[in-house]
Amino acid sequence: MSTADAYPKLIALTRELKLLQDAAALLSWDQETQMPRDGVAWRAEQMAWFGGEVHRRFTAPEVGDWIAASEAAGAEPGSDEAANVREWRHAYDRATRVPAELVEAFERTRAIAKSAWAAAREASDFAAFAPHLEKLIDLSRRKAEYWGHGGRTYDALLDEFERGASSARLTALFADLRPELVAIAAEALEREPFDAGRLAGDYPVERQQAFNREVAEAVGFDFAAGRIDAAVHPFCTGLGPRDTRLTTRYDVADFRSSLFGVLHEAGHGLYDQGLRGECHGQPVGEAVSLGVHESQSRLWENHVGRSRAFWETWLPRAAVHFPHLARLTPEDLYRSVNQAERSHIRVEADEVTYDLHIMLRYEMETAIFDGGLAVADIPGEWNRRFEDLLGLKVRHDAEGCLQDIHWSLGIFGYFPTYSLGNLNASHLMAAARRQRPDLDGQMAAGDYSGLLDWMREKIHRPGSRLLPEALIAQAAGSAATPEAHLAHLRSRYLGD
Ligand code: ZN
Repeated sequence: MSTADAYPKLIALTRELKLLQDAAALLSWDQETQMPRDGVAWRAEQMAWFGGEVHRRFTAPEVGDWIAASEAAGAEPGSDEAANVREWRHAYDRATRVPAELVEAFERTRAIAKSAWAAAREASDFAAFAPHLEKLIDLSRRKAEYWGHGGRTYDALLDEFERGASSARLTALFADLRPELVAIAAEALEREPFDAGRLAGDYPVERQQAFNREVAEAVGFDFAAGRIDAAVHPFCTGLGPRDTRLTTRYDVADFRSSLFGVLHEAGHGLYDQGLRGECHGQPVGEAVSLGVHESQSRLWENHVGRSRAFWETWLPRAAVHFPHLARLTPEDLYRSVNQAERSHIRVEADEVTYDLHIMLRYEMETAIFDGGLAVADIPGEWNRRFEDLLGLKVRHDAEGCLQDIHWSLGIFGYFPTYSLGNLNASHLMAAARRQRPDLDGQMAAGDYSGLLDWMREKIHRPGSRLLPEALIAQAAGSAATPEAHLAHLRSRYLGD
């Protein structure tokens, strides 16, 4: 085989694997939105088959030869080809260390655990979920040991979601961030709270859907290439170059929950829709990391959706769907969505306390993987740390350690990327404002295309050409630090 054949072979193979992976993603989406309860056993077999098949085909020895031949051929630095080969090498070296049976067992276990978690959360019954969690932690630990690490199991898990992240750096980052957030929260919590009773009224699901759709379209989400469904846990998943699925959940007493869920997931969806479809399945056509993905969701949810300008545009439209809102002012809505509050649920937390929720999860995960914390001790440990961080007692596990879907999917090492996303979002927003001084004027007029174009060019289209930190630094002109985010929080929560 000549070296010239190797690269096209890799392109063809990864395209085929993507056909399989997208089919599996559709099955997973279906499980969370449509599948009847008793379908889970067979669905778990399907997921195990897809996971094993993709793994076997990607880890075949000839694939290693093709990657080595492509490396030897030496693509032009900075090209798509060079980035693809770099990423395939990284993925291949990790994947070939893990036996296919472990991949299958992991996929099977998590498909079952996901349904078990939904039932356990509903009943606030940790004991019902504990055996599934035990298995997933064990399988994840085994995977991490196969992948290898420099002494901390958790670092091998982090790498799956955020290239370049390490627990040493995250621990240092959180140690810096925590006192600043606690101080901002303490001051913000002393402010006169907005009377949420003023929003009281009926919010029928169909009207929430109509309003959410208007907003999602306005920020640029393309409904010819995407849709929104209901699910227990809001998420976004890409099923192909022109097929992006969002989910949200509805509270008929408060429209804000589904709206911000949609804005958040639409932020992920815009990234997905902005990737180069012709490179779908290649690393350069894929999102670079979760910390960058989350910067996009938090940007549209918080920097856009919780701004004064947004409510000046959107309160009149909201009042068409929910007429009782006509008695409120945009300033009322602005205050109602920027309220610091001690609360139990991460996805509904305000921006100041949000990262404290993440720090708790990070501490729990490192305690599980590197500190020997036993599954049976998770609820007690969670509740103790939660009270210490947020000053609230946890009354039951559904509002404590059972609230998030992540562990039921066997994804450990994912949570810290939410905080990286917050920092990246503020850093990118500040950079976009500097580079495009007319941005705020456009957004005040309800035109979000300038901001989306900037993200398309700087973040979406590059895909995984650069590693996450390098991409952010290239887009913004400097590496992300907590500075822009803390300035954003002070202005939102301690400003006028
Ligand atoms: Zn997200």
